[in-house]
Amino acid sequence: MHRPGKQFWVGVTALAALLAVACGHDAARPDAAPATAASAPAAATQAAIATADAPPPASETGSDALHKTQDYLRSQLQSFGCAVDEDDFHASTPIGSLAMKNIIAKTQGEGKGIILLLTHYDTLRMDRFVGAVDGGSSTGLMLEMARLLCGASAKRQPNSVWIGFLDGEEALVNWHQDNDNTYGSRELAARLATSGDLKRIHAVILADLIGPKNPKFRRDSNSTRWLTDLVWKTAARLGYRDIFVSDELAVEDDHLAFLNRGVPAVDIIDLNDFPYWHTLEDTLDKVSSRTLGIAGHVILESVGELQKKYR
Ligand SMILES: [Zn+2]
Repeated sequence: MHRPGKQFWVGVTALAALLAVACGHDAARPDAAPATAASAPAAATQAAIATADAPPPASETGSDALHKTQDYLRSQLQSFGCAVDEDDFHASTPIGSLAMKNIIAKTQGEGKGIILLLTHYDTLRMDRFVGAVDGGSSTGLMLEMARLLCGASAKRQPNSVWIGFLDGEEALVNWHQDNDNTYGSRELAARLATSGDLKRIHAVILADLIGPKNPKFRRDSNSTRWLTDLVWKTAARLGYRDIFVSDELAVEDDHLAFLNRGVPAVDIIDLNDFPYWHTLEDTLDKVSSRTLGIAGHVILESVGELQKKYR
């Protein structure tokens, strides 16, 4: 595998910027109040404007920004030469049935095996929320992975690499109630089980909250131990021992759907050191191109290690 150069950082930062812009504005507001009978004419006018401004019901569509992000992902992935598979599905959520879409970029390996990389591209449904780090950073990073792995200059590898851009990671109401989380990964895992592709997957590497400044990636105790070892050893070999540290924490994230079905999976996430998590301050200035470069380097080299392991 080749090493990402400076171009890698620049590319990722530019993509994160685009995503942050795409995701940031007019996020769907499922809580947007319907027009109510107002006594004062001014209030009625206000209510009418609010209604005109309101997005269609969440059950019918995602937000405009989400659709723009999907269009952007698709066109970028196709321009890199990836085969692109889209899965439109409806998720049963506490606010009703929601249309969602997973987008999967695929490279073709020599054999049957698959290495699956994952990110979520949806953002928290909070008015004016951007999600530059939470959603944007890992998605920009995975787009760059796709550019490197699908590109014409990429050498044919023993295993296919699939890169899943997942919808519906964020809770609509409450993460801890009614399975209100990780809709996209649960859909993808179920779909791959049905198609028979799930048993072809040797490893899942999930990136989430990957781009904050001065990161510390702790080992996730829910993740598969040997796979965590492989990624952390790779990071140490590359000189990032102070960033991929040996402390542990337990994370619930998109990797669980695969772990629950017996597929080895690891989550690379920096939740502890990001004070702007799920706040309006999660904006592009919080994304570090250096962190993205390091994380991308480690993931790319870890994919290389997996290619050797399963050649
Ligand atoms: Zn989040």
